[in-house]
Formats: sequence, structure tokens, C-alpha cells
Amino acid sequence: MKEEIKAYNNVLELIGNTPLIKLNKITQNMKGNYFAKVEAFNPGHSTKDRIALYILEEAERKGILKPGDTIIETTSGNTGFSIAMVSIIKGYECILAVSSKSSADKIDMLKTMGAKVYVCPANVSADDPRSYYEVAKKLHSEIKGSVYINQYFNELNIDAHYHTTGPEIWEQTAGKITHLVACSGTGGTISGTARFLKEQNPNVKVIGIDAYGSVLQKYHQTKEFDANEIYPYRIEGLGKNLIPTATDFNIIDAFEKVTDESSAHTARELANTEGLFVGYTSGAAMQGLKQLDEEGEFTADSNIVVIFPDHGSRYMSKIYNDEWMSQQGFFDSETAEIPQIEYI
Ligand code: PMP
Repeated sequence: MKEEIKAYNNVLELIGNTPLIKLNKITQNMKGNYFAKVEAFNPGHSTKDRIALYILEEAERKGILKPGDTIIETTSGNTGFSIAMVSIIKGYECILAVSSKSSADKIDMLKTMGAKVYVCPANVSADDPRSYYEVAKKLHSEIKGSVYINQYFNELNIDAHYHTTGPEIWEQTAGKITHLVACSGTGGTISGTARFLKEQNPNVKVIGIDAYGSVLQKYHQTKEFDANEIYPYRIEGLGKNLIPTATDFNIIDAFEKVTDESSAHTARELANTEGLFVGYTSGAAMQGLKQLDEEGEFTADSNIVVIFPDHGSRYMSKIYNDEWMSQQGFFDSETAEIPQIEYI
């Protein structure tokens, strides 16, 4: 028999179908069985590959997008990278309006992926014509046939996870999942995944991870926007200072807040206990699990699925850099053991 060449047609065929990996050591003294959906296995190293592919293919199906058209978004983070990657393969122009707070590394990465990057001043209000929101809106109105993804206010962000992440987890757990724990930024991941899972079993409990300094938990509890909740924090991609319509608050049972410091340490712990080199919000999600366990949320029979959104390599100059950790005051110099390198 003739052997066939086993190859993917392009990198996009590798999006989704990420593995579910059992957590063993880090959960040793916790009640229940813990499984991580490790989204770093996507080719763009994050869960945002799913929404980039889904939203662009929906636009193609509806006849909104044709090859050569332009995609616009306002992020220097994972979503920007994923949209740039999908645009290259599908032949779209990709424009990203990003804040001047974005690191040079991130901007270089997006340029490498073929995106045209507009760097907009960070210290102006959202309605200032120079803000990245306004720049994106203006480009969208000027460029014929352009599509503005607007992930915080795009229902398709939820649909992407409803059609992919949700069914994958249901299948991988053979329907035995009891809890879903996921970070909430735009809310697309948790809302879409939970919507699918609760349709299969309404008893699946859904808990969102939020940051101190974000309005999400308070809004979920009171249905009111409380600006007093807002203050700066370091974790990127988690929590928000506005209410995104891509979050279905009715489907989320509760939010758990985590600190910058505990999340950073827990991310490092995931690397050196489970061999999982994942991002800052994965540390936050794992930290949320620890707190929920302490609060008595789980029993020995619980099957808890936690989503780890991205890869650790994007945080080399932050949580995986000892100097950065020290500058934040995350190493207590009296007690903490800062891992040392030996030079020969
Ligand atoms: N973690 C990281 C690293 C992210 O970039 C995001 C997206 N903002 C999230 C978590 C949260 O995912 P979602 O936007 O789907 O709520």
C-alpha cells in the first residue's frame, strides 16, 4: 500500500482540540479531581486562536469578507497575535491599534506576523481621537470592506467557545464535569463554554476568576456598575473596568477574585510541580482553585475543569523574571527563597 504524506494543510488546522491534562502534585492536598484545558497547545499559543478563526470564518460565510479585505482590532495581546496569524493564512490585511503601554517585544511580534500596528497614546481618555478605540473606529469607517472584531462587544466571541471549547470539554470529561473554572476578561471563553455545558447538564457549576481592581464580581452580585471597584492591577487579560457584552452574567454562578502576587507565585508553582509553563492568568485560575477549595467549594467526587488561557513564554520579562518579581515586592526578602543561578 502506498504511504500518504501526513501533513496539515496549514497552521489553522491545528486550532482547537487542545488537551485536557490532569493536575497531580499542585492539587495534592485539595478535594476533588482537577483537569486543565491547556490552551497554549493552540498554534498561536492561546485560546484567542479560536475566536480569531471563528469570527473571520463567520464573516466569510456571511459574505462580509473577501480575500484582500482588512481586519481591525484594538489589542497588543493574544487576540492581536491570533488575528494576525489567521489573516496571513487567509490573505487579509490586519491592522492593530495598540496602546503605547504595549511592550516593544509585543509590537515586534505583531509586526513579524504581518500586522500593521498603530501605537496610540495610553494617557488619553477613550473618547480622545488619538485613543486606540477611536483610531480603530476611524480606520474601520474609512477602509471599505473592513471588519472590526471588537472582542468585548462581539457575540461571536461567545459563539466561538460555544461551538468548540464547550463540546471538547464535554467529550473529554465524558459528561462527568461538575465545575468549570475560567478567567473572565471579555467573558467569551467562560460564557460560551458554560452555555454549552449547562445545556448538557444544568448542574455544572460555573465560576469566573476576576482580579482585584476589576468591576466584574461586584456587577455580577449587584447588577450595578461600581467605579469604586476600579484600580490598577498587573495581571493582563483578566477582569475589566467596563461591562463587556461578550459576558453572559446569567450563566456564571459566582466570581472569585485573586491577587497579582498570589497568581504570579502560583503560575511559577504550576511550572515546577506539573511541568506546565503557562501564562499569568493560568496562575490566576489555579490560585482561584486553591481559594475555592479552601472555601469548601469541592468534594472528593468533584470533577473540576480549569482553563489555562495561554503560554508562559509571553511573560518572560514579567512573572518569570526574578528582577521584575522583586520590583513588584513579590519576593519577601526576609523569607522567600529566590532561586539562584550558579555561574561556573
Ligand atoms: N487570559 C489571557 C491571557 C487573555 O488574554 C484573556 C483575554 N482577554 C483571558 C485570559 C480571558 O479570556 P476571555 O476574554 O475569553 O474572557
